[in-house]
Amino acid sequence: MASLLGNLFILAAPSGAGKSSLIKALMEKHGENAPYPMQVSVSHTTRAPRPGEVDGEHYHFVSREQFESLIEQGVFFEWAEVFGNYYGTSRVTIEQTLHRGIDVFLDIDWQGARQVKKLLPDACGIFILPPSVDVLRERLTKRGQDSDDVIAARMREAVSEMSHYNEFDYLLVNDDFATALQELEAIVCAQRQRTSKQDIRHNVLLAQLTSAK
Ligand code: 5GP
Repeated sequence: MASLLGNLFILAAPSGAGKSSLIKALMEKHGENAPYPMQVSVSHTTRAPRPGEVDGEHYHFVSREQFESLIEQGVFFEWAEVFGNYYGTSRVTIEQTLHRGIDVFLDIDWQGARQVKKLLPDACGIFILPPSVDVLRERLTKRGQDSDDVIAARMREAVSEMSHYNEFDYLLVNDDFATALQELEAIVCAQRQRTSKQDIRHNVLLAQLTSAK
């Protein structure tokens, strides 16, 4: 997949770092519009939908049996067990989207990120951090959708997730939201201008310019 026009971005973060809000803001600003068309990959999961979550939009919600059958069929580009549930990214959708020159964002955990990097070293890994332990704790408590036990468990999971920050290409500290969004956009922009991608995008121009007399 190394010669695909679109870029594959991996976004990982502990719960409470503001990853979902950053991705949402990025998509609202750019979506499928030029010059930076982009999409978020919709994962499969075995966890139950949260209030307001829509099947096919936030996740493809499936049973454990269905997920295991999809693993056997080789449907997933990567998959992992996170918080006791399966999560996976379907291979076909991302390949087709990248072929169309659309950047794809994977909102996945460090285990999935590791698999993707192995399969596609060209993928750009971005890890998002909260600005402090206190802010992380506050953000986890403010979610309002989980019990105290779940929040405590998520705090432990967050620490475990953050211990993998150095497996990523970029680190964003999400203190001020607007700044973090700007930094994310800068990374996306730079990735698109890499010679390996511009070579494909501007092949005609480059052929003309390099043979001009
Ligand atoms: P949540 O259940 O809160 O939506 O997600 C829990 C964790 O699973 C998050 O860290 C999220 O990024 C991760 N996750 C979501 N989809 C996938 C996926 O397709 N693959 C992997 N490896 N992790 C995922």
